[in-house]
Amino acid sequence: MNKTLDVLLRDFVFAGMVWLLSGFVFSCPVWAQPAAYDAQVEALLARMTLEEKAGQMTQLTLQAVARQREWADTRLELDPEKLREAIVTYGVGSMLNTWDAALTLDRWREVIRTIQDLATKETRLGIPVLYGIDAVHGNNYLKEATIFPHQLAMAATWDPELVREGAHVTAVETRASGVPWNFAPVLDVGRQPLWSRFFETFGEDPYLVSRMGVAAVEGMQGDDLSAPDRVAATLKHYVGYSFPFTGKDRTPAYIPERLLREIFLPPFRKAIAAGAASIMINSGEVNGVPVHVSHYLLTDVLRDELGFEGVAVTDWEDVKKLVGLHRVAATEKEAVRMAVMAGVDMSMTPYTTDFAEYVVELVREGAIPEARVDEAVRRILRMKMALGLFENAYPDTSLASRVGSEEHQAVSLKAAREAITLLENDGVLPLAKDARILLTGPGADWLPPLYGAWSYTWQGTETGVYPPSARTFLQALRAHAGEDRVTYVPGTDLYAEVDIPAAVAAAADADAVVVALAEKPSVEGPGSIEDLDLPAVQTRLVRALAATGKPVILVMLFNRPRVVRPAAEVADAVLMAYHPGPFGGQAIAEILYGDVNPSGRLPFTYPRYANSLLTYDHKNSERQDTLFGMNGFSPQWEFGHGLSYTTFAYRDLSLSADTVGTTDTLRVSVTVANTGDRAGQEVVQLYSRDLYASITPSVKRLRRFEKIALAPGEARTVTFTLPVSDLAFIGLDNRPVVEPGGFEMMVGDLTASFVVE
Ligand code: BGC
Repeated sequence: MNKTLDVLLRDFVFAGMVWLLSGFVFSCPVWAQPAAYDAQVEALLARMTLEEKAGQMTQLTLQAVARQREWADTRLELDPEKLREAIVTYGVGSMLNTWDAALTLDRWREVIRTIQDLATKETRLGIPVLYGIDAVHGNNYLKEATIFPHQLAMAATWDPELVREGAHVTAVETRASGVPWNFAPVLDVGRQPLWSRFFETFGEDPYLVSRMGVAAVEGMQGDDLSAPDRVAATLKHYVGYSFPFTGKDRTPAYIPERLLREIFLPPFRKAIAAGAASIMINSGEVNGVPVHVSHYLLTDVLRDELGFEGVAVTDWEDVKKLVGLHRVAATEKEAVRMAVMAGVDMSMTPYTTDFAEYVVELVREGAIPEARVDEAVRRILRMKMALGLFENAYPDTSLASRVGSEEHQAVSLKAAREAITLLENDGVLPLAKDARILLTGPGADWLPPLYGAWSYTWQGTETGVYPPSARTFLQALRAHAGEDRVTYVPGTDLYAEVDIPAAVAAAADADAVVVALAEKPSVEGPGSIEDLDLPAVQTRLVRALAATGKPVILVMLFNRPRVVRPAAEVADAVLMAYHPGPFGGQAIAEILYGDVNPSGRLPFTYPRYANSLLTYDHKNSERQDTLFGMNGFSPQWEFGHGLSYTTFAYRDLSLSADTVGTTDTLRVSVTVANTGDRAGQEVVQLYSRDLYASITPSVKRLRRFEKIALAPGEARTVTFTLPVSDLAFIGLDNRPVVEPGGFEMMVGDLTASFVVE
């Protein structure tokens, strides 16, 4: 290699900066440093009985200590006897959830105070309870909370800073209710579009998921978990949950070691390095082994390889399911032994305390060494100490004014505006300011598809518990365009016709027809589907309207990419709105009328056919066109795709070197110009291609991205820096390797070649 002195000097300075920066990024938050609370933890542990330790490892749902009511009843009432038995008799260390429906801030605080009063004042050692909640798009079980677009939409913003900001808002509003532990973010990589939790992922690419995941963890945790506006994050669901072979929730995944390490593990690795406090375990099985009993995944990989120091909690009832569902243990006691020995620290039992009793028995019988229990309890106590619960386990009332504040809501609105993705536009959008719209379709006047599941209830479909201020798309569109400019005809509901002829008739008076296609919000088991195609009746509505000759605009409010080919082929414009949250209707209206220039980009490959589900980073041999010149890779819309009301042009792609060593760092520059006549944002995406490799290479891989705003006529040079080691793939021996040879870098429509030697 013949470098000039100034290049060497530049590399040296640059390497120093990387070193400094990596020290900053990867310096462990104080709570995660094993030594930080050692003395206190050991002193407390030494005083604990075996029963108290087993209690700490047990997590109950609030339903287990509440009086039975109707489902989705918001008037939660605690059962004092059951609560006392759980907290005082069994000393359970943790609780979670609500009785399905969201509570008010005041009610949450009372509940937490009641629990902490018992734990801190009436148990022998006064150990506070660690309360956890699924605040997965804002604190969705708190009535007054700021709700956000779901993760898939957040990923579509391609703006990690926005994700960080949203996560911080969520942390403030969760801690304000007295809850210091959040079961988020989801770091499952979404590569099975049928999966009912696809909308909860940050999409299909491990690098994008990692960037967003790290931002979410940092936004929630900050660098001091005990701060009043921070919560502990949970990386879930470790690992392989998102890739069920059949697409149905919690069904078997088959993931070869190499694929696991190439695709599914990296986001966890990165977020652990960023200091995530806890992980939740995948409920499913991978390669025939339920992850809850996998010593390999829970200890060898998670602890010994990834260096995770925090708490590993099971998912819902998963130890019991080892017997009845997975059938790897004949008795519950054996299931407890297997799970604890594999590396489970805490069991979300979540209704009973038998887990604690079995742990005690198993230790007494010598089937679980007490040291394993001590290890788990140490982690749990350390997390409680780091969260400051030993100093103050009670809700901080000073945060109340920040809950649902205008400032917080503005972040959610910004996210909705930046997420919504314009997929097709034959020139019909933006609409003229005075355009009259016919709005129709099942997503038009129904709140749940805007919010998605995990909104005020688990499935999110109980509109009775939504806040009165919530506005449907129709209401928001009318507020934006004026009542008289928007006609509404239902057309269809989700699965059946309501009045398609009436919609067709109403189109005559409209300048454009907007069809709000929707899927019933759902999650986990209830969200499993048999068919990815959009229900036929919704397609029929679109086609009937298109036949009128009026421009037809599709707005898609889906849990996952439902196949819309027959509808899209007759549409004039298509917007993917995901689950955009409470400001979704407003943001869609602003985009339709051109008040906001769309800047979302797809974080996944949108399939054209239900039986052709390739990701963007497929193998060359998966493109049958290379063999037969047909049946190639032709998704409906590609990963990273999204249109704007302006246009961008790329030029001057250049690399800092044509030849690099495996330990070098490469800089890639490109100039992007706004060539249209309005301001817009572009997501500059850098992909690499490994031309030949010992493991068949992907056609391309996302390596870096940056979202930039450009005024009309403005051009900017974007420089990406990446160590050549970032081009590694998981090799024959299942370890990362960069093999010498030819590579390409692609940005926009440009390609540059280089050689690794
Ligand atoms: C879900 C988790 C969630 C947990 C607690 C489970 O059913 O899989 O994502 O965190 O319930 O509510």
